[in-house]
Amino acid sequence: MEYQTTINKPFTLSGPGLHTGKYTHATLKPAPADTGIVLLRTDLEKMVSIPARADNVHDTNHGTTLAIGEVMVSTIEHMMSALHGMHVDNVFVEVDGPEIPILDGSARLWVNQITEVGLATLEKERKYITLPQRVEWQDSKSGILMIAEPADDFKVDCKIEFESELIGSQTAAIEGLDNYAKEIASCRTFVFLHEVEMLLSLNLIKGGDLDNALVFVDKPLGEDEKERLAKLFDKKKETIQVHNGVLNTIEPYFANEPARHKLLDFLGDIYLLGAPVKAHFTIKCPGHRANTELAKKINNIIA
Ligand SMILES: [Zn+2]
Repeated sequence: MEYQTTINKPFTLSGPGLHTGKYTHATLKPAPADTGIVLLRTDLEKMVSIPARADNVHDTNHGTTLAIGEVMVSTIEHMMSALHGMHVDNVFVEVDGPEIPILDGSARLWVNQITEVGLATLEKERKYITLPQRVEWQDSKSGILMIAEPADDFKVDCKIEFESELIGSQTAAIEGLDNYAKEIASCRTFVFLHEVEMLLSLNLIKGGDLDNALVFVDKPLGEDEKERLAKLFDKKKETIQVHNGVLNTIEPYFANEPARHKLLDFLGDIYLLGAPVKAHFTIKCPGHRANTELAKKINNIIA
């Protein structure tokens, strides 16, 4: 029999949110069995708690946002991924603002903290979600296909396809969660330079920095543009460089880091089922909408 877990003691990670740019503190605290993952907005007059469940998904543009009524918490996916990957069943997440810090754009720092404080075993059995049947969600217009098949264990095969040769077609896979910390957690989010400029102009990535994403440069970068980017990101112009199609001094950790990051995101979003799941997932061109729609569909079937 497997038992539920929580973290041994509280820890806090702080920093700006990617989209709002608001500097917040996220404090994770031990929680009793059967709590699940519960977010608490502590900066409001009255504390509001938002269970990290698919039916509380409010928005999936450039990240996963949960809400209850008017109260939101954005960009929860990398923290959720770490909690899933590290087998944390129950935890309270107190956050003093509308967004979870983006940190380095991966789940690495969450995993480090969870490893440092360690897990406490609770006296209640861990209940896995199992599927009575195959579940599929697709958006044929954008080539997205999400398949979940009943199984006795957990496995994800992920494939992404981009027209740009810098990424192209990539795959990443995980069987069980034993390799999560080593193979997936450190993989950073990625974006194309033209998207960065668009998001910046729309004021949608106020907390964006050249160090918390792999920025793929899919066209030659002129001196004028380097200067503009340096200004935008408040950097020295000399630091704006391109190495192997990636902006700045960030080196990818893995050749297929983008596919691995999509897998990281999926692990976070699918944890919105409210418990670990035994199933085989085959996901093609996933994103936060597809991930959370699949979770909702599974929830409806097992309800
Ligand atoms: Zn992500």
